[in-house]
Amino acid sequence: MSLMLAAASAAQGFDVEAATRAYLDTLQGAARAKSDAYFEGGYWLPLWGALVGIISYWIMLRFRWSAKWSGWADRVTKRKWLQPMLYALPFTLIGALLTLPWSLYTDYFREHQYGMSNQNLAEWFKEFGIMLGVGIVTTAIFLAIIYAVIRKSPKRWWLWGTVATAVLSAIMILVAPVFIEPLLNKYTPMQAGPVRDEILRIAHEQKIPTNDVYVVDASKQTKRISANVAGIGPTIRIALNDNLLNRSNLAGIKAVMGHEMGHYKLHHIQKLLAYLTILSLIGFLITYWVVPKLLARHGEQWGVREVSDPGSAPVFMIVLAILGVPGGILFNSVIRHHESEADAFGLEAAREPDGFAMTAMQLSEYRKIEPAAWEELLFYDHPSGRTRVHMAMEWKAKHLDELPPEQRKIMVMTPEMKAN
Ligand SMILES: [Zn+2]
Repeated sequence: MSLMLAAASAAQGFDVEAATRAYLDTLQGAARAKSDAYFEGGYWLPLWGALVGIISYWIMLRFRWSAKWSGWADRVTKRKWLQPMLYALPFTLIGALLTLPWSLYTDYFREHQYGMSNQNLAEWFKEFGIMLGVGIVTTAIFLAIIYAVIRKSPKRWWLWGTVATAVLSAIMILVAPVFIEPLLNKYTPMQAGPVRDEILRIAHEQKIPTNDVYVVDASKQTKRISANVAGIGPTIRIALNDNLLNRSNLAGIKAVMGHEMGHYKLHHIQKLLAYLTILSLIGFLITYWVVPKLLARHGEQWGVREVSDPGSAPVFMIVLAILGVPGGILFNSVIRHHESEADAFGLEAAREPDGFAMTAMQLSEYRKIEPAAWEELLFYDHPSGRTRVHMAMEWKAKHLDELPPEQRKIMVMTPEMKAN
């Protein structure tokens, strides 16, 4: 009886709304205006990005560049399967050059304008070059498979194309952390010590069978904090970036790692792959229907008449770019739902509500902290800072008695605080 009373009074003594407000109010004035402006500007980027893409692909068709590249591939080799691979070279290269001003603006100048980037222009171009190389190889493989499918199955390529896309996406997800990400960043085994011990303790408690913790030197690109748990079977590994390590305290690190373990344990990558497959099925069905119509009407002018001609790639890309805008909005909600699930999982796993709220505040440096409901619904791929702090404080109110006595009150944790 007395125990129950104590629990009730503790819960009553903790005002979730006031505790949430205490955190949110620490982001004020110019800093809040800057984060709002950065994020609101981002609402339009997918739309303008799609437009930039569409114009580039249209240029390739209108000036018959695409037809010329396809003709060149046809002269170089008579092997049909090799032609789309050759075509991929100028297609990817020129495509990247046409959209270079846009990439520079979104990835470099805009990031600097808001103080999010740690890169100089030379470093940015070096990474642009590396990713262009990766892009050429992956586009070559992808186009070779898709056009083979179109040639072999003129009536069912939308189906086999979807199957191929699903398989290739799965391979990419598996391969990227091992072969692609190390091209840009260095992964170093984390130093032994209390932070590593705590991360592994939580991981083992959640039955994640690994002892590998890596630190990624993300600070060479960005100020953002981030982490992930990736791999399957023997390749499972935990990684956190140096920004998280340097800008947070133990409570914050535990909160973030609990969240990342949530993604892993809740199979979000696999679910994402399933959603992607559904979206690509829709994409293939629509292109199957629309691309031949576009070629029938404009093919003469573009010098591309057959869907099976690799020169039709820009036509596909235009249709997919248009579909990508509503698709992206839909996908935001899927991802935001996963993020919210990982948040709930992370609070249970790490048991650091104030560490989690502190991290939500740090992430609000570039994510509008208190959006309208419709903004969060349409444009957020993660819950807003307010949603996350509120969730953390609700968890705290429910588990007040389990927390260290000095934390059983409304407080605002900052990274400088030595927590736990
Ligand atoms: Zn997440």
